[in-house]
Amino acid sequence: MTPSSAPRLNHLNKIRRPVIGRSIALLVGFCALLIGIHGWSLWTARQGQLEQSAASTSNMARALAAQAETSLKIADAILGETVERIESDERDGLDGAEKQRLHRRFMNIEASTAEIHGVFFFGPDGRWDVTSLKQVQSGNNADREYFRYHQSHTDRKTHVGQPVRSRATGVMVLPVSRRIDNPDGSFGGVALVTLDLRFFGAFYDRFDVGRSGTILLSTDEGRLVYRRPFKEVQVGNDIRSGPIYQMYKSSGPVGTAMLRSKIDGIERLYSYRHLDNYPLIVASAQSKDEILAGWWIAVVKMSCVVAFAVAMLAWGGARMIRQIRIRERLEDELLLAGTTLQQHNVSLKALAESDGLTGLGNRRLFEATLEREVGRARRTSTPFALVLTDVDFFKKYNDRYGHVAGDECLRQVGAAIGAGARRPADLAARYGGEEFAVILPDTDLEGALAVAESIRAAVAAMQIAHADSPTGHVTLSLGVIAGHPAADGQGAAHGWVSAADQLLYGAKSGGRNRTSGAWRDDGVPAPAECATDEQSFTA
Ligand code: GH3
Ligand code: MG
Ligand code: MG
Repeated sequence: MTPSSAPRLNHLNKIRRPVIGRSIALLVGFCALLIGIHGWSLWTARQGQLEQSAASTSNMARALAAQAETSLKIADAILGETVERIESDERDGLDGAEKQRLHRRFMNIEASTAEIHGVFFFGPDGRWDVTSLKQVQSGNNADREYFRYHQSHTDRKTHVGQPVRSRATGVMVLPVSRRIDNPDGSFGGVALVTLDLRFFGAFYDRFDVGRSGTILLSTDEGRLVYRRPFKEVQVGNDIRSGPIYQMYKSSGPVGTAMLRSKIDGIERLYSYRHLDNYPLIVASAQSKDEILAGWWIAVVKMSCVVAFAVAMLAWGGARMIRQIRIRERLEDELLLAGTTLQQHNVSLKALAESDGLTGLGNRRLFEATLEREVGRARRTSTPFALVLTDVDFFKKYNDRYGHVAGDECLRQVGAAIGAGARRPADLAARYGGEEFAVILPDTDLEGALAVAESIRAAVAAMQIAHADSPTGHVTLSLGVIAGHPAADGQGAAHGWVSAADQLLYGAKSGGRNRTSGAWRDDGVPAPAECATDEQSFTA
């Protein structure tokens, strides 16, 4: 790791975000979106299916109403013609020949019109006067609902009665009738056309409403005429509390809605329609389950596909997150390794630049610092000073006390020299052997001499016994050179060492335990002055 890459790594580490949480959120969000879109599309398809079925049942109701309307119009036309004939041509009472003619006419109508089961003319007492029956039969219908209606109502409109079982044939029929008036306006009998419910059944069977669907015909008073599947016992049932009749009452003559049947409890989509001209209601219905059967199959299939897609996403996502976790762990480990390496680098650098015995800067650091500080002083035109010091009579010290004690002495002397270099920019270093140097940037001669003297005094004050020294303790000699560096290029810095060395030599030859200092401007050192413990020093 290079020193410049460390801040970049720190910066990258700071802007690093928790990618796992975001990945999980992204995956969950995507899955939720997928499920949401799936749900929404299924819902839309369901609505579409229901709307389509509503249109289909509504069209069916329209077709059923048209068919019922046509049948009733035919019956109505026959009744109109019959009433007209009986009231005008046979107003004086029907004789035998006229009855025969009418009988043949009725038989023709019955034979040629599929939905018509019979045509009848009842006298005012309800007796069967003329019928469409092939065999002459007698009977009385005075008890029938439609007969009593016409007896008590003078209106001339067509009356659609309650479905009944035919007395002549036993078939279930829908009676359609009109009143016949005598010339004086009194009740003259009833003309009746019966519609065969089997015809309606056959027509309704042609429509596909599914297995649970239904088709229904009822009077608008709520009496069931026909319901598919046909059950005779249901004919004439009161359906006023049923869903269709309730809807008809609340919503008017035409409508479509999803309702639950009162008869079988099945939920169906019903469409009903009141006939335009007759008091009947038709309805068709399809069960909700059958309408949505195809949709449910699509739901299952599509849900399987979506579930598979979500499962694949979750599986892929889990693998991806595992990989991210591994990479994150790797990153952390790498970062830690980088930091450790950086710390090691710092310690190594310190180790490479420090002296093993004294802990001061070593010769290498001294040389580099000297070069740098001499250059800086020259560029900034500030003074520069260098102190070179040597332990006096150290060979003798070693000889007397041994090398181990010599090393300990050097350690103490080194500590005193290190303490003397007080400013942050100052550097105390071991120059070699028992020689030390102190670099003092931005320091004039006066200041440098003060530093040198304080070091000399500090060592002397330690009173390290040295029996072979004239003073009886370990002392230092110091050479101090200060000035304004002017020369540039290689060797320029080294000139300052030579100068300090010369001054140190002067101090030695001057008697040791003293400081010799001089000012120089990159020239020959000025004459030196020396000081001892006892002397005050002047440069
Ligand atoms: P002078 O007063 O003229 O400086 O006399 P001196 O004896 O100190 O002179 P010299 O430079 O000849 O002696 C230096 C001695 O310092 C030589 C060596 O025995 C001793 N020395 C150098 N380095 C070390 C060291 O690391 N440890 C020890 N114990 N002694 C050292
Ligand atoms: Mg020496
Ligand atoms: Mg020495």
